[in-house]
Amino acid sequence: MAVQDDPKFQQLVVAFVEECSHRGVRLDRAAAEGVLASQLSLYAGRARVSEMEVLERYFDERWPRRFAVLFVRCDGGIGRRSVEPDRSYALANACSLLTALAKAVELAVASGGHADRDECDLAIASAAACVAELGAAVRSRTTPDVVLPGSAVRFAREVLDVAAERAASGSWRCCWCSDVRHEHEQPQVVVEQLQVDLLLVR
Ligand SMILES: [Zn+2]
Repeated sequence: MAVQDDPKFQQLVVAFVEECSHRGVRLDRAAAEGVLASQLSLYAGRARVSEMEVLERYFDERWPRRFAVLFVRCDGGIGRRSVEPDRSYALANACSLLTALAKAVELAVASGGHADRDECDLAIASAAACVAELGAAVRSRTTPDVVLPGSAVRFAREVLDVAAERAASGSWRCCWCSDVRHEHEQPQVVVEQLQVDLLLVR
């Protein structure tokens, strides 16, 4: 059985969508599934156990609330956010946004070992939610343009902001290795590209 089919997985997803909605963020169910699935796979990889085991042993009914507080950063987790309008993107720009989010995930994954791990995890989970929302928006579009929900625009901005800032300061790196002979991407080039892509969500 896939972990997504586990009743506990589905209960946590429903509770997570509700917790986000209490905080004024409308989160698509597929995006919430993406967040939980990426968390499970992250911990399963680290603990070297199956995702099912992580779900059974380490995730309980407190997860949706705890994670929503982290995920929806607003007024210390108690206030409501202002509503961000949905936005329409040309397909090429939607693809640029997807690529930028993937780059942010790469940076966060490569940096989890030496930078602030919670921040890296949060960036990975937020980017996963955005990618899921973008994918759903591309698939379900009825016009040539892609309409992205405001909540996803906001998450994308937060993730890309953090990634550009951390890459610029050198705390997030392009690769987890310390091999000087390995040809790494120039951090400055990565930062400049992220800053260009950020213009899409400003
Ligand atoms: Zn390397």
